Amino acid sequence: MSGQRSNFPLPLSSITGGSVKPAARGPVATPQTATRNAASSAASSTAQGGPAKAPQAPGPAPRPPGYAPKASSAPAAQRSDLMATEAVRRAMVARVARQGVSDSKVLGAMEIVPRHLFIEPALSSQAYIDASLPIGHHQTISQPYIVARMIEVMCAGKALGRVLEIGTGCGYQAAVLSFVAKEVYSIERIKPLHELAKTNLRPLRISNLRLQYGDGMLGLPQVAPFDGIILAAAGLEVPQALLEQLAIGAHLVAPVGAQVQHLHRITRIGKSEWTSETLEACHFVPLRPGTI
Ligand code: SAH
Repeated sequence: MSGQRSNFPLPLSSITGGSVKPAARGPVATPQTATRNAASSAASSTAQGGPAKAPQAPGPAPRPPGYAPKASSAPAAQRSDLMATEAVRRAMVARVARQGVSDSKVLGAMEIVPRHLFIEPALSSQAYIDASLPIGHHQTISQPYIVARMIEVMCAGKALGRVLEIGTGCGYQAAVLSFVAKEVYSIERIKPLHELAKTNLRPLRISNLRLQYGDGMLGLPQVAPFDGIILAAAGLEVPQALLEQLAIGAHLVAPVGAQVQHLHRITRIGKSEWTSETLEACHFVPLRPGTI
């Protein structure tokens, strides 16, 4: 979609460490705070495992070139940990599929990424429930359904080259994105979360993902244009800088609003022309300027 590419990787701060259609209308991503989610899901013993049915569509997503979490090279404890979570991850994906996400690439990616590794140990038993959870600094990891839905809506059935995420948080969505796009850039404005994401992602050895500490409202003009942009935090409007960094024909997906928020999909249809579609209601942490 986008024309020229500069060499990848670029000199951004990175997760070094060497060697790992819009669906039928899904349910509303209900406004819940992560704290409430955590509390209510702790009370629900059935929530954790989720439905037992296996997903229909998702085959294994193609691994990015640098992804090498080889079972044989992982420590034994980690290996059994990963295997033990496979079934529950499959159940999570089956649930997301039932909620209306049908892109097999997205579902396949979510089947691979070990979501529990992005959540603090005290909450990791809740990693696969359909809820957002606290990650510190008043921020959350988004619920699995909304992660899948946003990526699906951004891809719209196409294979994407370069994509940008605003709001890395703990790094989970960035990891999922790395399985559906060739190159992923993700920006976080809170330094400790940027560092947390690096720590979480390092063992996965994903080579096509670059993390950047900075104000995502400015985007990454030095890397633009992007074949897709996702905002994981809600503003009252989408920053113009991000609209300008979208390739023509590409989609940007963002929650827009304050107390009441909706997902919007913006498509750049010309040099100075964009169209916008309003999708379902959702609830995200606020998009804020600057860095801390
Ligand atoms: N992508 C995450 C969700 C992160 S929560 C996931 O994998 O589930 C949203 C994140 O957006 C928070 O970490 C918050 O600090 C960040 N954020 C808010 N405004 C931002 C901005 N202007 N630039 C970069 N990150 C921002």
